[in-house]
Amino acid sequence: MTGKDLKEKYPLLFSNNPMEPIFIFGLEIEDGWLPLIDILCNRMYAKIRAFDTSFYQKSLLEDGLDEAKKEYLKNKINTSQKEYKKYIKNMPVFTQIKEKFGTLRIYTSQLDPYIEGMIEMAEDMSEHICEKCGNKGRLYTINWHKTLCDTHADERYGDKARIFRETN
Ligand SMILES: [Zn+2]
Repeated sequence: MTGKDLKEKYPLLFSNNPMEPIFIFGLEIEDGWLPLIDILCNRMYAKIRAFDTSFYQKSLLEDGLDEAKKEYLKNKINTSQKEYKKYIKNMPVFTQIKEKFGTLRIYTSQLDPYIEGMIEMAEDMSEHICEKCGNKGRLYTINWHKTLCDTHADERYGDKARIFRETN
């Protein structure tokens, strides 16, 4: 999985504004956090999927529907499509996804308390996930802040990583 894959999988969530960092740089993180972003995107898409009208559209094709039922289904489809358009227009989209002080930071075009809550949880989770490989990690504050698993911390910091673990 790459950042580009996620953009293709959830196109509605990424800003198309050419001035935004996400448009220019893509995801400014290493691959270990991509599954976390994937889960976040999937949850955000649940809101979009809630407007899906295919069930009603299929029901409308059933034989022997009386007028009242048809009217009901058409109304459902209509309302849902209107609400979808309204939601999409005001929906927060990612403007930047990056690492800062060793943890994940996600910025959006607008604030929505429900989505903000999910983003904050993903950001908090990133402090326990190796940014390189996705294994269990911890936030190392040796010279620079970075969340890494033991293996990748040893690779990067050598003996300093072991000492950090013993003293933190
Ligand atoms: Zn790792």
